[in-house]
Amino acid sequence: MRVVVDLNRCQGYAQCAFLAPDVFTMHGDEALVYNPRAADEHREAVARAVAACPVQAITVEGLDGPGGSPPESSARAREGLRRAQESFHGH
Ligand code: SF4
Repeated sequence: MRVVVDLNRCQGYAQCAFLAPDVFTMHGDEALVYNPRAADEHREAVARAVAACPVQAITVEGLDGPGGSPPESSARAREGLRRAQESFHGH
């Protein structure tokens, strides 16, 4: 899928980095770095990041591709979220 973040709109809230840490990463306080060609296995996490972004800066092409995501990917997404929260609490 193709991920596009409108960086003019992005306010660096880092919601996306919490929810899809494999695709979105914060560098410093406000600079968002992301993978514009996210792997399909991150589909669910990316969908959550899109929904969570307070300023709707994230758009994704191919999010609703055929097949959907297998059940184990949601477990992985939850695990990733937990790890992300832990590492953010560690600041
Ligand atoms: S959630 Fe939205 S505003 Fe926050 S860093 Fe991500 S793209 Fe930017």
